[in-house]
Amino acid sequence: MAYSTMKKRADYQRKYYTEHRAEILKQQKLRRETVTGRNTTYHRKYKRRIKKEVMMHYGGGQCVCAICGETNLYCLSIDHINGRGNQERKTKRFIVWGGNIYGYLRKAHYPTGYQVLCMNCQFIKWAIQRGDVDWSLMSDIEDNSI
Ligand SMILES: [Zn+2]
Repeated sequence: MAYSTMKKRADYQRKYYTEHRAEILKQQKLRRETVTGRNTTYHRKYKRRIKKEVMMHYGGGQCVCAICGETNLYCLSIDHINGRGNQERKTKRFIVWGGNIYGYLRKAHYPTGYQVLCMNCQFIKWAIQRGDVDWSLMSDIEDNSI
């Protein structure tokens, strides 16, 4: 519909919105949920597949922690064997960031220097590196060579 002035058009749109507000908001909500829901599911599945693939490579054919043997994919993460992860995140910020490290490792044809660790073993490793370990709390851990 053509309007002689921009003001007439804006007036019509304002009037239309006021009369159909509930209907418009309902459509917007439905579209938002549908689109984001579909994307979220797709991305979640995609990221899980890539993570599993990377874990399988660095775990020698299985998704398993190199220290304790944990196999739950949600607990497992990639560890920089020489502890230079922070430095790498700074220098390769645009690709090695958060969940994208799996995509990066795959694209880079699985460079060496990485291993699969569960988060518990990561935390213990970091504590040992910081020198912040109270060995009396870790009486069950026999292997201190992490
Ligand atoms: Zn572990």
